[in-house]
Amino acid sequence: MQVRITVSFPYEAPVSQSLFDRASAVTPGGVNSPVRAFRAVGGTPRFMVSGTGPYLTDADGRKYVDLVCSWGPMILGHSHPEVIAAVQEAVARGTSFGTPGAGEVELAEEIVARIEPVEQVRLVSSGTEATMSAIRLARGFTGRPKVIKFAGCYHGHVDALLAAAGSGVATFGLPDTPGVTGAQAGDTIVLPYNDIEAVRAAFAAHPGEIACVITEASPGNMGVVPPLPGFNQGLKDLCAGNGALYISDEVMTGFRVSKAGWYGIDGVRPDLMTFGKVMGGGFPAAAFGGRADVMAHLAPAGPVYQAGTLSGNPIATAAGVAQLRLLDDAAYEKVDAVSAELRGLVTAALAKEGVAHRLQVAGNMFSVFFTDAEVTDYDGAKAQESFRFTAFFHSMLSQGVYLPPSAFESWFVSTAHDTAAVERIAAALPAAARAAAGATA
Ligand code: PLP
Repeated sequence: MQVRITVSFPYEAPVSQSLFDRASAVTPGGVNSPVRAFRAVGGTPRFMVSGTGPYLTDADGRKYVDLVCSWGPMILGHSHPEVIAAVQEAVARGTSFGTPGAGEVELAEEIVARIEPVEQVRLVSSGTEATMSAIRLARGFTGRPKVIKFAGCYHGHVDALLAAAGSGVATFGLPDTPGVTGAQAGDTIVLPYNDIEAVRAAFAAHPGEIACVITEASPGNMGVVPPLPGFNQGLKDLCAGNGALYISDEVMTGFRVSKAGWYGIDGVRPDLMTFGKVMGGGFPAAAFGGRADVMAHLAPAGPVYQAGTLSGNPIATAAGVAQLRLLDDAAYEKVDAVSAELRGLVTAALAKEGVAHRLQVAGNMFSVFFTDAEVTDYDGAKAQESFRFTAFFHSMLSQGVYLPPSAFESWFVSTAHDTAAVERIAAALPAAARAAAGATA
């Protein structure tokens, strides 16, 4: 997306800029994950050197209130002492054994104890691996080829799941990115989010061919666009009625929006679920799990192959177990309260400047759409005035608040976002709202 920058940068970031220059020489685009490059908002990506509680400090020594939280995982804030202690204790015992270990059992037990539909779980190293493996398992279990996904839902960079929306491209399941072949994407059916009739029609058009429907439990990758009442239940019912599996991707929402993730909020029982982010405590740990009879098809118990050299890594599992054990009811109450307070502050500041916006919420996740209309799908998300976000983002950045560098991402808070952090955000909002009001496309 090309956006003309309509704000001036109140300060430079020379050390970050020089790191970015060096990075760009040795790494495509200077980053190891595209959104970090600030392409949607322009300017110099900040290279962070440390994090404590709700704050990040960049290579130029500037401190920011962090509303990204590593894209979700840091729900206890940065460098939580008990998580750090667990990691230090684990690392002193060795970094990887390539054998089973007690930490994996503990993490699996924590997940199974929290999320009732998960009877068995397999640990992997990234959310992408989790969704890729879940759809392989669904295909292996059902013996069917096709997968339904929704436009605007992101499930990692799995070839078959990168086919997103886009008129005829969607209709024909063509790949959205070079490098994904028609064969890899040809069994993917992309439908508009929140459109249950489209799902019904797809099942009718492909009898006996659809292995699974995969959906974000509550999407946060086109901004926050929660399921309309009954949508997830409708998916579950259509899957059950047509012999397909319902896969709920809780990589983002899992252990974040409640102890049992989005399942803890809507109670719709998936056949398979995927997790990542929070469960790794800031380390690469992710998982997929669900019905024991389905999971029994996974190697070595069953024929569907799946493996990983670093799966269940002892340091990642120690961090994950420590973080999950700290996430009691009081922790979620705290995150929910901070989220509600910030939402109130953001909407008040934007309303005061007469900026058309919608704050959309899923548990403690939220994002701002610069539009009047309720956003229920990807087309709606794309229709917002994202140039206003660009101005808003840079104003906040210049005042020491680090927002996701894209209008299509959820904002994340943590238990560490205390009064001082909230006050700093509150102080930055009026100028950011004015910048948004004055922005032009
Ligand atoms: N699924 C969802 C819902 C996600 O939000 C993400 C990442 O943002 C993924 C899957 C992919 O996870 P990872 O980046 O760990 O591969």
